[in-house]
Amino acid sequence: LTQATLDNIAASDGDVQAFLGTNGPEALQQAQELDEKGDFSNPLAGIPMGLKDNLSTKGLETSGASKILAGFKPVYDATVVQKLQAAGAISVGKLNMDEFAMGGSTENSAYQKTTNAWDHTKVPGGSSGGSATAVAAGQIPYALGSDTGGSIRQPAAFNGIVGLKPTYGRVSRFGLFAMASSLDQIGPLTRTVKDNALVLNAIAGFDKMDSTSVESEVPDFTARLGQGIKGMRIAVPKEYFEEGIDPKVAQQVKSAIEQLRELGATVDEVSLPHTRYGVAAYYIIMSSEASSNLQRYDGIRYGFRSPDAKSLEDVYVKTRSEGFGDEVKRRIMLGTFSLSAGAYDAFFKKAAQVRTLIVEDFNKVFNDYDLIVGPTAPTTAYGLGEEINDPKAMYLADALTIPVNLAGLPGLSINAGFVDGLPVGLQLIGKPFDEATIYQAAQAFE
Ligand code: GLN
Repeated sequence: LTQATLDNIAASDGDVQAFLGTNGPEALQQAQELDEKGDFSNPLAGIPMGLKDNLSTKGLETSGASKILAGFKPVYDATVVQKLQAAGAISVGKLNMDEFAMGGSTENSAYQKTTNAWDHTKVPGGSSGGSATAVAAGQIPYALGSDTGGSIRQPAAFNGIVGLKPTYGRVSRFGLFAMASSLDQIGPLTRTVKDNALVLNAIAGFDKMDSTSVESEVPDFTARLGQGIKGMRIAVPKEYFEEGIDPKVAQQVKSAIEQLRELGATVDEVSLPHTRYGVAAYYIIMSSEASSNLQRYDGIRYGFRSPDAKSLEDVYVKTRSEGFGDEVKRRIMLGTFSLSAGAYDAFFKKAAQVRTLIVEDFNKVFNDYDLIVGPTAPTTAYGLGEEINDPKAMYLADALTIPVNLAGLPGLSINAGFVDGLPVGLQLIGKPFDEATIYQAAQAFE
């Protein structure tokens, strides 16, 4: 199976360019060791998979799709990688992404452009675009991605697959390149809901190496699959169908919600009044945290160093000027500004207050409902090159996924049909640590 997967990737990746690199020899050796041991008790044992390139893999190049980490080989495995290995999973390679997970189309990769699996002239979404395309194109059965403002759910939606951002704290972030530490979560991209639950089973749980991972009981996420959704209370926020949503996408998602009603759920319209402030608050909080996290790339500790540097100051300035792409620089500047003494109260503090209002919006709805549903993204996949020069348009495209990160909630995207031949995503948002209810409902819909 591992050999066939590697052959398939070699034959298909020229078209979709999802992989930054494969590790055939190591993967085949692991598969052989597993065969010899004969322990296939975990359902993931012997099954090939891929990892977003911001997950540390010991001895295997991990660049976060940035030039500043060209050639960097981590000295340890991320906790999720260790856990999957312990389950017998076989990692076959590293997947393309927006540089340091900043973007929504994977076009910010310093290395290559990945295409959508359904239409090679369209973007795969992002930042986990390589992960989504590789799964949707049939190169691998599942992949891990990371989601700070929508980077698992939106590419899953654009490629018609299942993508989950777990509750903040559910999965250890140890070994994930930090973008915005209060928002980042790792999660699975799969073709089915059951596969997704199986992967979450393997990666979830407390980790003493991540101080924000939570000591909460990890249920078997497959346990409630097949139980249907009779009597489930579902809320549909009216704000998720307002300005900026493509009418055809809205229509497709509304008919998906109608199906949930037919399956026995009660469905009511609700309001999340602070939704419209989510993008603005996110871009301040995320860029502030990112500007701080990215200070470590100084030309001394990791990867690339500018060959022309003549002094210490030169090493910092030249390395960072040459090593980071435009979008990363834009965020470092925005974040450094928001945290500066003169701007902190008006920007960072205000954004943190808005974040609390968004959390309270969700809390109120979850007093009466089990799930919130709506579109994952306001449009289907757009053309490669179409939006990359308009950062504001790109930022607004995350309006429906960002609030979920700000509130730390679990959110899943599942395919809800097609508009003009391109997949549309339905987003299911759950209460904290209630991924099981999301899976139960998503599988009934599947
Ligand atoms: N597209 C969003 C951004 O550019 C989300 C990225 C992410 O979730 N990593 O920040």
